[in-house]
Amino acid sequence: MSAAPPLPGDIHFIGSYPDPAVPLDPPLPEIAFVGRSNVGKSRLLNALTGRRDLARVSATPGKTQLLNVFRLPGFYLVDLPGYGWARAGKKDRAAFRRLLEGYLTTRDRIAGVVWLLDIRHPPSADDLDMQELLARTRRPCLAVLTKGDKLPPMRRDREHMARAAELGLAADDLLVTSSAKSQGISDLGQSILAAVATAA
Ligand code: GDP
Repeated sequence: MSAAPPLPGDIHFIGSYPDPAVPLDPPLPEIAFVGRSNVGKSRLLNALTGRRDLARVSATPGKTQLLNVFRLPGFYLVDLPGYGWARAGKKDRAAFRRLLEGYLTTRDRIAGVVWLLDIRHPPSADDLDMQELLARTRRPCLAVLTKGDKLPPMRRDREHMARAAELGLAADDLLVTSSAKSQGISDLGQSILAAVATAA
């Protein structure tokens, strides 16, 4: 038998919603996941929950502009659409912005926002917009670097420090993960469960 995943227990897909203020019943703490498209969000969600296809639903055409909500023991996991995709038109960007801004400004049970950045790239303009929005809405944020295995260890440490400096964070407040190598995933799971426990 394999070990329990970092976020253990039954997971139910609740639904995909265009309205960021959609009421969820029963009300529970929410953990939201955001990041640029292709940052590794789907793979990270699968690694955290021990599922192979949890985030597949979020990637199906037509569902990319919606909040995808899953219920786990004691909290909701809210998968927000990936931002900054190259071919998005003005209309898509505006719709995405409304959804994200609506979500972050209106909801009162957000226990944490897991914000994903690729360890290999300096934050994009969209990433910096996201950071500004998180700061403005004062949401508790868990900043996470993805794809740590793509760099050899010394380079990884250097890029980690560089990303922390660019974001104005202490390196300790920027968790390095690799879904491929299962690194940092259980630490992230613990941080999420701690944020849920604080908010419950
Ligand atoms: P999303 O668009 O943010 O959901 O990104 P995905 O999870 O679909 O990942 C985008 C690409 O990056 C895919 O080819 C993944 O296999 C790859 N990827 C994601 N996480 C990792 C990781 O930890 N290590 C490596 N080497 N590749 C990764």
